Amino acid sequence: MTDTGTTGRWAPSPTGDLHLGNLRTALLAWLFARSAGGRFLWRFEDLDGAVRPKFYDSQLRDLAALGLDWDGEPARQSDRLDLYRDAIGDLRRRGLTYECFCTRKEIAEAAAAPHGPSPEGAYPGTCRHLAHAELERRRTEGRPPALRLRSGTDGSVPAEETVIDRQLGAHSGIVDDFVLQRGDGTPAYNLAVVVDDAAQGVNQVVRGDDLLPSTPRQVHLARLLGLDAPSHAHVPLVLSPEGRRLAKRDGAVTFADRLSLGETPLDIVNLLLSSAGLDPVATLDGLAETAQRFDPATLPRQPWVYEPPAIQP
Ligand code: GLU
Repeated sequence: MTDTGTTGRWAPSPTGDLHLGNLRTALLAWLFARSAGGRFLWRFEDLDGAVRPKFYDSQLRDLAALGLDWDGEPARQSDRLDLYRDAIGDLRRRGLTYECFCTRKEIAEAAAAPHGPSPEGAYPGTCRHLAHAELERRRTEGRPPALRLRSGTDGSVPAEETVIDRQLGAHSGIVDDFVLQRGDGTPAYNLAVVVDDAAQGVNQVVRGDDLLPSTPRQVHLARLLGLDAPSHAHVPLVLSPEGRRLAKRDGAVTFADRLSLGETPLDIVNLLLSSAGLDPVATLDGLAETAQRFDPATLPRQPWVYEPPAIQP
């Protein structure tokens, strides 16, 4: 049965080879979408300075080799700058933005100050109330400002938003005056992701739970822009035995590393399925049946702790 109502997506940054944690999240996002008979889109989040062109193709190749598929051509955020500029222009005209001249260091110092006004990690609102003359002076100093959202009623009291996560339940988090556009003019992740999900008709977001803290900001921004926020399901990351997020230095974690150990794509898929408490498949085509039986409620809520073998010389 095809449900034309669900559209999921996978939105990696082409900044490196996908590792087991990314591959696992991609597989789960695919299962969520396909189990609902829905569409599954690929979007490259390539506004980051660390993008390397070779990873567009290698990421597509690796996921295809695991038996995953997607609908239509992969989109690239770098092709969609006009959409983000329009959204920023809209907020700007409505007086919902302001220029911020703070350096990272200044923000860290203000946040660390004793009796600081802001909860941990929130922008303390330093530039929100710059007097006109001060603003003019900063503008001529030559450091191009970032653009921030004017979120709550007062910079020192960030707004709060509650999201209902499909896996984790209700999650409340702050909505501070987060960056919409960086000083170099690049749209920020939180802005681009909201604009794209809505423009692409995405209504189901499945991603790593490291992005849960950003979700209240994104839901808040969608509302300000008059857009429907998608549903969210955050899945636990893969951790090393020391409790760190799995990384390349931990051993054989990329698709190519695993092949060099003598594993097949089927072995890799079955490792990922077993990590999620799902039955192995006999062939990659069997994933279609896994999708039909997939029930998100059975997924583990705990991180997958995994010690990869050493990379073969
Ligand atoms: N581009 C983000 C990443 O690679 C994912 C963003 C998202 O899924 O919203 O971590």
